[in-house]
Amino acid sequence: MQKLEKRSWAEPFKIKVVEPLRMTTREYRERALKEAGYNTFLLRSRDVYIDLLTDSGTNAMSDNQWAGMMLGDEAYAGSENFYHLEAMVQQYYGYKYLVPTHQGRGAEHLISQILIKPGDYVPGNMYFTTTRLHQELAGGTFVDVIVDAAHDPEDLGPFKGNIDLEKLAKLIDRVGSKRIAYVTAAATVNMAGGQPISMQNLRELRELTNRHNIKVVLDATRAIENAWFIKQREAGYEQHSIAQILREMCSYTDACTMSGKKDLLVNIGGFLALNDDEIFEEARNLVVVYEGLHTYGGLAGRDLEAMARGIEEAVQEDHIRARIGQVEYVGERLLSIGIPIVQPIGGHAIFLDAKRFLPQVKQLEFPAQTLAAELYLESGIRTMERGIVSAGRNAETGEHNFPKLELVRLTFPRRVYTQAHCDVVTEAVEAVHDRREEIRGMEMVYEPKYLRFFQTRFEKLK
Ligand SMILES: *Cc1c(COP(=O)(O)O)cnc(C)c1O
Repeated sequence: MQKLEKRSWAEPFKIKVVEPLRMTTREYRERALKEAGYNTFLLRSRDVYIDLLTDSGTNAMSDNQWAGMMLGDEAYAGSENFYHLEAMVQQYYGYKYLVPTHQGRGAEHLISQILIKPGDYVPGNMYFTTTRLHQELAGGTFVDVIVDAAHDPEDLGPFKGNIDLEKLAKLIDRVGSKRIAYVTAAATVNMAGGQPISMQNLRELRELTNRHNIKVVLDATRAIENAWFIKQREAGYEQHSIAQILREMCSYTDACTMSGKKDLLVNIGGFLALNDDEIFEEARNLVVVYEGLHTYGGLAGRDLEAMARGIEEAVQEDHIRARIGQVEYVGERLLSIGIPIVQPIGGHAIFLDAKRFLPQVKQLEFPAQTLAAELYLESGIRTMERGIVSAGRNAETGEHNFPKLELVRLTFPRRVYTQAHCDVVTEAVEAVHDRREEIRGMEMVYEPKYLRFFQTRFEKLK
């Protein structure tokens, strides 16, 4: 008799409510894909079998969170659920003040409007779409100060989300600290493939910015997932709890913006949290204009309650181990069968390297878009292009931006899919890989003016 190789881990929950999945035939998917212009954003959700488009707002809530939804206090002012959320944010993130917002970008809007004056610079560890846009709308200029390794998909460094403190110091020297509105420090940098920032880097960032009297705003959207990587990879943190690490990360910053739709296990919600009395005063005034009264910020009482409960669940070690363990499980299986992916494996997603996967497809024939379409066709799995289509055109010349990377993102919603679904995903990628030489690229037949990746339409090249 053969011995089993190792002890398995399993999802730390059992399933109480189910939502049936719909299987489709290849002929059906061929039609659906053609109708969607070979763009996975234009598919209808009902035609998708396993949906790995995004981990934003796609989380499964717990029975405890659903029970909390029934306790929504839908008062216009002073809702009970606001005070619960405030207490949870103070306890787990450690900031003094809370301003709820409808989602992360609402918080980004407020802090950008308050802290940025036209002509200011806002350095950060790689841009995020909505963060940068709000900084620009406030008259600021984003400056990327992430370490160079973040741009190399084969660099195996443990903290490729780190800020390059020399780049930052040079910027301070060049423009002067008065022209720097604040530094954004993103935890597990989304656009770098979910790569973490180290505690040491945050500590040194605090020392540098203190010397120059510059504020630091944490993008805490996936800070809990970042805390897990610190526990795994950074000396001295092995015995710390995720909650302790999270508190320490926040302690080196002045404020945070938060999209609860990621780490906090809800479908909608976000917040701004901060320590400074005057900035809080302004944020509390401004939130009324754009989101809603300062005790609900565009959310229902029940949404605030679900997020308050989500904070406590999100820092549980078994949850976060399984969450990141699931992504690692898929990534390691793909690596073991020779599929080219971005390494190290990130916290929330696997990124297929379409340039190495489909070397015969030229960048102007959209290799990542083509691969995402083929994966859907093969298996009904929906993913997202992160390549030349997402990169858009240069605003001045009208030319395509040619990004270095052509990636397909397989993003895992939290607590939604099981290990068996993960196996189906791996096998689907393998099946496309087996017939990769037959795959031809595509041409663009319709291109919208703004954020084109959402609505561009393609046709297959013959
Ligand atoms: C999603 C996201 C945001 C924006 O949050 P929304 O809730 O989508 O408005 C900001 N930063 C990061 C890193 C994100 O992933």
